[in-house]
Amino acid sequence: MKPSVSPAPAPANRPRRRPDLTLPMPQRDPSLAVPLPLPPPSSNSIPTPPSTIGQSLPTPSFSDLERIRRIGSGSGGTVYMVRHRTTGRIFALKVIYGNHEEAVRRQICREIEILRTADNPFVVRCHGMYDHAGEIQILLEFMDGGSLDGKKISSERFLAEVAHQILTGLAYLHRQKIVHRDIKPSNLLINAARQVKIADFGVSRILAQTMDPCNSSVGTIAYMSPERINTDLNHGIYDGYAGDIWSFGLSILEFYLGRFPFGEKLGRQGDWASLMCAICYSNPPEAPPTASREFRTFISCCLQKEPARRLTAAQLLQHSFITQLQHPPLQSSSSSSSNSSHP
Ligand code: ATP
Ligand code: MG
Repeated sequence: MKPSVSPAPAPANRPRRRPDLTLPMPQRDPSLAVPLPLPPPSSNSIPTPPSTIGQSLPTPSFSDLERIRRIGSGSGGTVYMVRHRTTGRIFALKVIYGNHEEAVRRQICREIEILRTADNPFVVRCHGMYDHAGEIQILLEFMDGGSLDGKKISSERFLAEVAHQILTGLAYLHRQKIVHRDIKPSNLLINAARQVKIADFGVSRILAQTMDPCNSSVGTIAYMSPERINTDLNHGIYDGYAGDIWSFGLSILEFYLGRFPFGEKLGRQGDWASLMCAICYSNPPEAPPTASREFRTFISCCLQKEPARRLTAAQLLQHSFITQLQHPPLQSSSSSSSNSSHP
């Protein structure tokens, strides 16, 4: 399987200690490591809700965080809503299961530091991490609307807005050479301002490195692309970027249909083998004939069995299903299939 992040050469002054790990190493000049004060707030600007501030903040001290409530649990950890006592800011704190060895923890810390540099309005911000009593905890931007898991979005216009935001975040991550690997409805979060953001990028990769492969609590394969599940399908070549596009397309179609596109039962309670067979050996799911032509071609540009035939995030942003958002409705139908050809 191809690694999730394209290998980057280690800087000359810092040899890579673990050649099997591939996240680009940050090039830090220690002489510049001076904490800079935050710019003063502009007096006439609209105050930004604390959870949506984009710039990197100093990581609050762990003892200053007060747990308010448990939000939910996934295969790799539990997420809590926490408040920073001194500023009143609300965050989400993801506590990763298990106590890891010292060396693994150090590696996770380094990787999270890199993920911390990701800065895009459509990507959930990582504000830092704690290694507390051997347990790794990640401080995240809090998304008050929760995830889009189980949501049905029958309005194509709203769905196009949602898709536009996710694609903008995904195109950003891909430009940074970060592959998400776990795009699915529960990792797409929404806030009161109706901003949709991608969560858990990189976390799945960290978990994949640290979790016991025999651990039964691995995440779902439901949104994985056929060639990721069955490496024989694409001559053993796995392109993580194209894999993310499959998962994105399947999630968008699920929002439209209000059910898992390969079959409602398969998504939740289905056994692994039937799910695998459906994804790898049946035809990719399609939007129903009742949907607009724009939406149907958009979905088919994502859900191509052959990864090379899927459009990239940047190309999908140019698809008429997305671009029609900027045009009056009358103009939209004339260019319905202009971008539907595959690269
Ligand atoms: P899995 O770990 O199997 O992929 P998951 O994505 O549901 O599943 P978590 O990422 O641990 O698991 O999330 C648990 C719950 O916490 C989910 O309901 C998710 O919507 C919520 N959640 C995660 N991150 C945040 C956040 N930053 N703000 C608000 N809620 C969040
Ligand atoms: Mg998640």
